[in-house]
Amino acid sequence: MEYAENILGTIGNTPMIKMNTLVKGVDALVLAKYETFNPGNSVKDRMALQMIEDAEADGRLKPGGTIIEGTSGNTGMGLALAAIIKGYKMVCVISDKQSKEKMDILRAVGSEVVVCPTNVEPDDPRSYYSTSKRLSEETPNSWYVNQYDNPSNARAHYQSTGPEIWKQTDGKVTHFIVGVGTGGTISGVGKYLKEQNPNVKVWGIDTYGSVFKKYHETGIFDENEIYPYVTEGIGEDILPENVDFSVIDGFTKVTDKDAAIYTRRLAKEEGMFLGNSAGAAIKGLLQLKEHFTKDDVVVILFHDHGSRYVGKMFNDDWMRDRGFLDEEVTVAADLIKD
Ligand code: PMP
Repeated sequence: MEYAENILGTIGNTPMIKMNTLVKGVDALVLAKYETFNPGNSVKDRMALQMIEDAEADGRLKPGGTIIEGTSGNTGMGLALAAIIKGYKMVCVISDKQSKEKMDILRAVGSEVVVCPTNVEPDDPRSYYSTSKRLSEETPNSWYVNQYDNPSNARAHYQSTGPEIWKQTDGKVTHFIVGVGTGGTISGVGKYLKEQNPNVKVWGIDTYGSVFKKYHETGIFDENEIYPYVTEGIGEDILPENVDFSVIDGFTKVTDKDAAIYTRRLAKEEGMFLGNSAGAAIKGLLQLKEHFTKDDVVVILFHDHGSRYVGKMFNDDWMRDRGFLDEEVTVAADLIKD
């Protein structure tokens, strides 16, 4: 018999899938590390389990405790699954920008969800950073995960995602491209791949309204770079400790409109029904195509599943309201002409 002991035993070992249609103009083999095959439908299951097990090991998390985290949904899902199996209570603090689907999904797996306003400063007491911290101080036997600064986040990717990519490409990977939020994925995978081969290039996908690209290029934390944006999962108005800028070769920024359009194109043209950061990532890869040559093996990591965005990027009214649909119609017309 072959079975997992529980749902947590199915985390990791996700497939690598060749991209065929959207990357036609790219002179390299493009492979997608397809993280929606994790049980919580995102890459975040990996780091959620790692953060919990490291906290158990050094006593920060005790039996029967309450796990508290500010999460846009995917980390909360991963933490909630582990909390169920391991017998903890789970509280997710989430910003009101996040999709209703994400909130409903968290509640479905037994998490309490606390909603906070998005457009306030991180140190405002109403922000989800401040609220998570306060709740953890007020709740007895609780542990505040803090995925932004928790080193177990990047370590999970150094220990599992990175080695899987190396093995699946037979050590032939030349470029790694991924959206950056907490920085755990890019930093852990980037460090591992560069240790195997220092020539591997690592590119981060950033969004307009976020500080990463400018900071990487100038060393300046420029508050003028910060403004509200629509893209979910990537970009920050803080510098999380998990972003290891030393393993990142560069960033490219993708607009909200392009990210939304390419999220839809991934589904329609590759059969890849994925989240909004995947659309940003593939558009970013196309923006970087001059960097790739014929023998390159470019790995792009797709973080999460499209089901969490059916009321947003996959909804025509939502797209039309933001003026995001016109260009897609033009693109579709061009495709028919081709
Ligand atoms: N995409 C999605 C959908 C996410 O939830 C996240 C995490 N915020 C990211 C990308 C970015 O990943 P990381 O936090 O590891 O940088």
